[in-house]
Amino acid sequence: MKGVFVTATDTEVGKTVTSCALSLLLPNARVIKPIQTGCLEGERGMLVPDVEMVQSLGGRANALHCFYPPCSPHLAMELARTSLTCADLAGEVRAMADREPDAPVIVEGAGGIYVPINANETMLDLMLELGLPVLLVVGNRLGCLNQARLSLEALQLRGLRVLGMVLNRVQPANVCDPGCGSQAVGEDEERILTDNVRSLKVLGEKTGAPLLADIPYLGGDIARDRLETLFAPVAHTIASSLRPLDRKRDEQDLAFDREHLWHPYTSATNPLPVYVVKDTRKNRIRLWDGRELVDGMSSWWCAVHGYGNERLVHALQAQAARMSHVMFGGLTHRPAIDLARRILSLVPQGLTHVFFADSGSVSVEVALKMAVQYQISLGRAKRRHFLTPMGGYHGDTQGAMSVCDPINGMHTLFTGLLPRHYFMERPSCRFDAPYDPSSLDDARAKISALKDEIAAVILEPVVQGAGGMWFYHPRYLVDLHKLCREHDILLIADEIATGFGRTGRLFACEWAGITPDIMCLGKALTGGMMTGAATLATERVARGIGSASPELGGGLLMHGPTFMANPLFCATALASIEELLASPWQERVAHLQSLLEEGLAPCRGREGVADVRVLGAIGVVETQHPVDMAALQQFFVDRGVWIRPFGRLVYLMPPLVTPDADLQRLCSAVVEAVEKGLA
Ligand SMILES: *Cc1c(COP(=O)(O)O)cnc(C)c1O
Repeated sequence: MKGVFVTATDTEVGKTVTSCALSLLLPNARVIKPIQTGCLEGERGMLVPDVEMVQSLGGRANALHCFYPPCSPHLAMELARTSLTCADLAGEVRAMADREPDAPVIVEGAGGIYVPINANETMLDLMLELGLPVLLVVGNRLGCLNQARLSLEALQLRGLRVLGMVLNRVQPANVCDPGCGSQAVGEDEERILTDNVRSLKVLGEKTGAPLLADIPYLGGDIARDRLETLFAPVAHTIASSLRPLDRKRDEQDLAFDREHLWHPYTSATNPLPVYVVKDTRKNRIRLWDGRELVDGMSSWWCAVHGYGNERLVHALQAQAARMSHVMFGGLTHRPAIDLARRILSLVPQGLTHVFFADSGSVSVEVALKMAVQYQISLGRAKRRHFLTPMGGYHGDTQGAMSVCDPINGMHTLFTGLLPRHYFMERPSCRFDAPYDPSSLDDARAKISALKDEIAAVILEPVVQGAGGMWFYHPRYLVDLHKLCREHDILLIADEIATGFGRTGRLFACEWAGITPDIMCLGKALTGGMMTGAATLATERVARGIGSASPELGGGLLMHGPTFMANPLFCATALASIEELLASPWQERVAHLQSLLEEGLAPCRGREGVADVRVLGAIGVVETQHPVDMAALQQFFVDRGVWIRPFGRLVYLMPPLVTPDADLQRLCSAVVEAVEKGLA
């Protein structure tokens, strides 16, 4: 779909005359009004004056949903006992546009930008849903400079591309506007109108949304050629925005990327192919070439609310304007305090201290340091090693790497460089099988043999993520916790992937009802808006470290990243947590779990498939042989889904807001890949 969305600073300021002119000037164009209120009773049923006007001049126009009451769409629909979402409306507009792919659409909103469409959505949501560039019509009158600036800001802050503004006069130039006072004369009004033009030109230059036309009062005289002359510059700008995508630029960008940018876990000189993303919205990723992909990865566990969530965007913007960063050494701030308070109220009871780190890996580094410092402070300096199950993943920095799976942890090259820690068997007892106490035998043996060297056991509770997407029995965690206690070995729960609802519990530790001594949070902590993580510790750990004598560290935790407790991170994370808690996340996860089970079931027992498992909003198909990543990736993109397999794992962890139909698309794509022998 190509075209423009026509919106305005207010109702009755000239959207319709603008769309009408554009429909005449742009070849094959069609005006679509998703919602039209204030329709009239005509001889042959409902009369839609705006549509009639376009048609009478020889243009094409349709109104999709018409209502009699002259009021806001939300009220008109409420009175008609109906309700539409922006996704519904956008779907209809797209369907109509797709019937003539070469014809541009001029979608005309109702009223201004924040006109409500239903209880949750406004016209702005419809614009975001459609993703068309926007034209802003400004009613030329007293007060319009304020209106224009507010409107531009609202549009541009949400990432919409504003092509420009049209200034339109709705009454004769010498008729004074309300607010001019009883003594004002025509000259006063004319001065205002002239200045509006000048001031909007300046605003246009500042904001990159130029003033494209200054339309005088037209009265009843809306002759076709007059309209065409006045609106020619507007049509010209829109026409140039409609030109086919500049493929050459795409190709140049991709070539630059290939030459100069490192991507995760791929060669810098001969990298796997990448796809260029234009923008993201809800659970969709839109590519530069117009293709739209259903996101199955939540950008690696992060984007639980999907993308562009209003509350999160707003929190980030407001905080950026207030205070984007300040050092945390010697200073503190509300965003950090509020976030810490909120986190501590949610995590398992007993965790009382918060260290804000700048990424998941760093929070793991901090956790490891905490554990070692804790043991040192108790005079057990020999306890500077860690015990961890095989199949774990804790990040890519050096300390974190040293506790990742030593074989498939992708870090074997660094064996000589990294401190050597101890590995035990992967928790063998499946989540969905009866608990087998012998699954803890290896842990028990290792702990009793190595207890004088081990500061802590570190593991991912219940779900091992990037190391194998393995779900194990929570009882393992209960018993391991007990075992650690017996030997005063700390337990570090890395909840970076599992935290914030993904497994069906807010934190995976809740499955076992345990409070770890140290806990790491990250990824979904900010809803995927930005980086940021936290390391939490119990009173015992904090006090232990704090009580050390000067020769044992003096009670200071030796860590302090530059961007520690960055206020943008704190504000966004707090908004993300509020958004999650305000949503029916438990029902959503349970629902996604049942859809994943149903959707992936056809993979079970298929040739090439070793296992299919689902827990919470995570679905995994484990294959017998490593998949051809590039080929499979391409296959998925061709089917309109974003799924990133690795090794012998094809897995889904979609945003929690994924609609049923999209989840089914994700599952079908996986099933088809398996059927075709690609996985
Ligand atoms: C992703 C992840 C990390 C590392 O987090 P980064 O933000 O990538 O540094 C650590 N532990 C687990 C369990 C993870 O999933």
